[in-house]
Amino acid sequence: MEMLLKEENAMLQKINNYLDSQKENALKSLEEIVNIDSFSYDKDGVNRVGAVIRQQLENAGIPYEIRENEEFGNHIIAVIKGKKQGKILLMGHQDTPHPPGTTLQRPFKVEGNLLRGPGVSDMKSGLISMIHTAIALQRFANEEMCDIELLFTPEEELGSPISRNIIVERAKDALAVFNLEAARPDGSIVTSRKGSAHMKIEIEGRASHSGAFIEDGISANDELAIKMTKIKQLMDLDKGTTVNFGKIEGGISNNVVSPYAFATIHSSFWSEKDFNELYQQINKVVETPYITGTKSKLTGGIGILPMEKHEGVSKLFKIVQKAAEGLHLNITEQQTKGAADAGFTASLGVPTICGMGPVGGNWHALDEYMVLDTFIPRMKLLAASILLFVKESKL
Ligand SMILES: [Zn+2]
Repeated sequence: MEMLLKEENAMLQKINNYLDSQKENALKSLEEIVNIDSFSYDKDGVNRVGAVIRQQLENAGIPYEIRENEEFGNHIIAVIKGKKQGKILLMGHQDTPHPPGTTLQRPFKVEGNLLRGPGVSDMKSGLISMIHTAIALQRFANEEMCDIELLFTPEEELGSPISRNIIVERAKDALAVFNLEAARPDGSIVTSRKGSAHMKIEIEGRASHSGAFIEDGISANDELAIKMTKIKQLMDLDKGTTVNFGKIEGGISNNVVSPYAFATIHSSFWSEKDFNELYQQINKVVETPYITGTKSKLTGGIGILPMEKHEGVSKLFKIVQKAAEGLHLNITEQQTKGAADAGFTASLGVPTICGMGPVGGNWHALDEYMVLDTFIPRMKLLAASILLFVKESKL
């Protein structure tokens, strides 16, 4: 792979020096937004985080657009125009899974090299990284850059019900996507994530008195038991395809043959193909009446698409690794079982990397942490990766 030229190294040096000079600023901004509760359902809280982001964009002269939502906080879409064709999308979510009041109980805190506070690593530090890195590129590399777009979403922790479409809209013509979720505790970044599906089986039978007239009844419960046994056997843990019956219900009373039963199924999987195969097989079981007279239907399907490691993802990962070498960082990759926004962009075929934020861990837990001395280095890594990507793409 091509190395950066001398002039490019000089540019990178300027970017790195600038980012080093921003350490205190970045830390102050991080403290400010960690101390704002922004539970996904707390629209005002999310928008208060958004207000800090908007102020920073305004200070840097970066234009942005606001998309207001009825139920959730706003989307913020900022664009830095570059001299070259195309765009690179940076993404982050402003919400956390922590209800209002959490920051009063455990506000932002520095503990040696660890930063604490709700959402400090998932992913408020990623938001600050994204802004500072974009500003550095705007100031020192604008001539070499394509457009850089920053997308801030309000409800990722709920599975991005409304952001999903906006993410697809903004990502579909992007050359590459960097999602600023935290790097894993070992410093690795994420090149694949599982997808998940939610389904429901409903069965109709016929009621009758189970003592006197059991022959007249058609038991939906019995049918469900048979179907469940068969469907559970379709789980393939070697492949990473899971099947879980999360909730089942059926029947009316103990001495009545059950006229109705249902079960919900959750499944997670590494590829859409794996899920489609599973779905076909589940559907076959659902369509087959094992007890004559029962009628069954299957509803639901994929909720979050998996982030599959396709060629574009592999290429982008190699570029990040190469950029890391120049910073004397050793970056490895990881598969993550949890689903996230990167799945939406990767499934469009767009080269995507997740986990480009600072290193952290214990997300959603009381002891969530971010590793302070990775804050600026990961911004440098993002900047260098973007520069190298643009160079290699020969825009
Ligand atoms: Zn997150």
